[in-house]
Amino acid sequence: MSTGAVPAAARPATQRSRIVVRLLLVTIAAGLVFSVLSTLVRGGFAYVEERDAIQAELAQLRDIVQPALTKAIWEMDRTSVAVHLDSAARLPALGRIAVTLRMADTAPEVHVRDRTGWTQDPTLPVLRRALTYSPYAGASEIVGELEIFADARELQARLRREIVIIFVTQLIQSLLLAGFVMWMFNRTVTRHVRDVAAHLDALSAKTLSRKLVLRDKLWHNDELDQLAGGVNELQDRLAAHLDQQAQYEGELSRHRDHLAELVGERTRELEAVNRKLDALSRRDALTGLPNRRHFDECKAVAFRHAWRTGQPLSLLLCDIDHFKRFNDTYGHAAGDDCLRRVGEAIAASFKRAGDVAARVGGEEFAVLLPGLDAAEACVHAERLKAAVLALAIPHKASDAAACVTVSIGVAALAPARMADFDALYHCADVALYEAKHAGRNRVERWMGEERCDAGLPS
Ligand code: GH3
Ligand code: MG
Ligand code: MG
Repeated sequence: MSTGAVPAAARPATQRSRIVVRLLLVTIAAGLVFSVLSTLVRGGFAYVEERDAIQAELAQLRDIVQPALTKAIWEMDRTSVAVHLDSAARLPALGRIAVTLRMADTAPEVHVRDRTGWTQDPTLPVLRRALTYSPYAGASEIVGELEIFADARELQARLRREIVIIFVTQLIQSLLLAGFVMWMFNRTVTRHVRDVAAHLDALSAKTLSRKLVLRDKLWHNDELDQLAGGVNELQDRLAAHLDQQAQYEGELSRHRDHLAELVGERTRELEAVNRKLDALSRRDALTGLPNRRHFDECKAVAFRHAWRTGQPLSLLLCDIDHFKRFNDTYGHAAGDDCLRRVGEAIAASFKRAGDVAARVGGEEFAVLLPGLDAAEACVHAERLKAAVLALAIPHKASDAAACVTVSIGVAALAPARMADFDALYHCADVALYEAKHAGRNRVERWMGEERCDAGLPS
């Protein structure tokens, strides 16, 4: 479910113009109400005015017909009376005109002219006038009475006309005013609000520097300018905030890179130290040869490889003869020096890739010779024996020779009989023992198979 705001530009036009339409409808409705109210008020005034006008017209009529009627009655000229009444009855505002003729001997005679369908309206005034005739100066006689009634229908017709005119005028005024207000509202407010919305829609982190400018404004320093100022101020603050954030991120990134560099550097140093430590931990400090630990690691690998591939693997065990006596005769330091030199001779004798010559005990050395069978290993052993002899380190306490010598036991892997390296080692050790037993300073090859066939793989 998406709850994101829809940009104004993406909204339908009908939705966008709703405010304008609503405002227009409200204004028209208000115009109608005002027109009705205004018509009611002005209609009230018009009623009074029209009623007074009708009354004035009737009074004028009365004043006109009164003398002629009075004279006609005095002269008993009924024809003239009828003519005058008929003439008066043509006035549209008149509903009834009645003349009462007073005669001395007979009952009063009433002459009436009614407009068709006329009924008396009690709210309208009635004009009554006694008709007085003066036959000569100083004498007067009432000859009759005149009554004039207004016709309410005339008043209503005039009022209707008046009300229609008032209402239509008011309506036109209201609509024109509403249209003008709408036009002004659109010109001064709506289009600027739309500009603000379009500006905000187009706003992104990259366009924050683009200021909001309200064009073609009619008036200045109003709420819209206040709004535009607020938007621009907000943009400035946002831009400053983003700048600062970018700055912080840059600094953070630089620090991170620097830290990564430092960590990399320290890691590399540590790795180098570790490698050194590892190498040192696998080296014999005195002779510089690989130590027992390194030999143990290599022996397992070499043994598994030979056992799996069927390639030959030989082992030499080399021990300095009467070394205890050497120490006793020449001192421990000289013993150390002797060990170092014998070690150098061993290292120089085995340089093939894969050969491992290690110091595995006090004055004992072991040499792994992958790819060599017993006979070939014996050749190398003899060479080593000769190389140590060639060092010519005096050893007057030795029974074997006048200088330092070594005894070497040689054994080759016999996969069918040797299940693990210990079996091979044991066989070389047996051969070494035989070399010692046979008088030292010699190479012995393991031959006694019956003593080394224990521990075969199942
Ligand atoms: P064999 O001919 O039967 O091997 O007699 P050997 O005296 O060499 O053997 P033994 O095991 O009796 O003596 C070994 C001597 O090696 C004893 C010890 O003092 C000496 N030795 C062991 N390690 C060192 C060392 O690091 N430096 C010195 N100077 N002497 C050592
Ligand atoms: Mg020994
Ligand atoms: Mg020894």
